[in-house]
Amino acid sequence: MINIKDNLALIEQQISQSCQQANRPRETVELLAVSKTKAAALIEQAYRCGQRAFGESYVQEAVDKIARLKHLPDICWHFIGPIQSNKTRPIAENFSWVHSIDRIKIARRLDQARSGHDTPLNVCLQVNISGEASKSGVTVADLPELAKEIANCPHLCLRGLMAIPEKQAPLSSYGKMLDLFMQLKQQYPRLDTLSMGMSGDLQPAIAQGSTMVRIGSAIFGSRE
Ligand SMILES: *Cc1c(COP(=O)(O)O)cnc(C)c1O
Repeated sequence: MINIKDNLALIEQQISQSCQQANRPRETVELLAVSKTKAAALIEQAYRCGQRAFGESYVQEAVDKIARLKHLPDICWHFIGPIQSNKTRPIAENFSWVHSIDRIKIARRLDQARSGHDTPLNVCLQVNISGEASKSGVTVADLPELAKEIANCPHLCLRGLMAIPEKQAPLSSYGKMLDLFMQLKQQYPRLDTLSMGMSGDLQPAIAQGSTMVRIGSAIFGSRE
């Protein structure tokens, strides 16, 4: 039996400790609970423990769960998975945040699909920091153009950057992300989100300035 309350308490301890080691106030790091493949009932359990932000990767599965959990006030849904262009509408209509924008075409489609809402969609650009051809994410070279495009989208609010460093990635990947984030922030001062760190690497991510850690298996147990 998975004990979500205990798991959340343990993660909270790890985040606090990592913040302390990095000389950062605890409030500078937000916990995103990654609930992909997990049942709505488990998400509701985490919600009852005070968790509000949840991350999902598969559109249809997420849309079903979002509908089932409509009764929970101020639950906040983040889309963190790869985005197919034919899925931009349900993403724009059901989520408050998208972390995984990596090309202009997707940004434009999300912007259009969000136009009927009173609040813009909060977005992070996913950066291919390990530089692997197989991985999604915008290259460092293409990042400025994509950021500029999004800054001009009235229904998108550019919040920051996201990365999934390779498991064997050198620790310097995190520092590179922080540099990119700080550079971009000079141009767009309202950026406030550096989304990096998962169950296995939250400590180095927080040490290098992460403001949002995306934790799945350490809260909900391993996935099939
Ligand atoms: C699944 C997933 C996570 C969570 O990974 P865990 O190792 O289970 O914590 C974080 N970020 C993204 C983009 C994911 O797809």
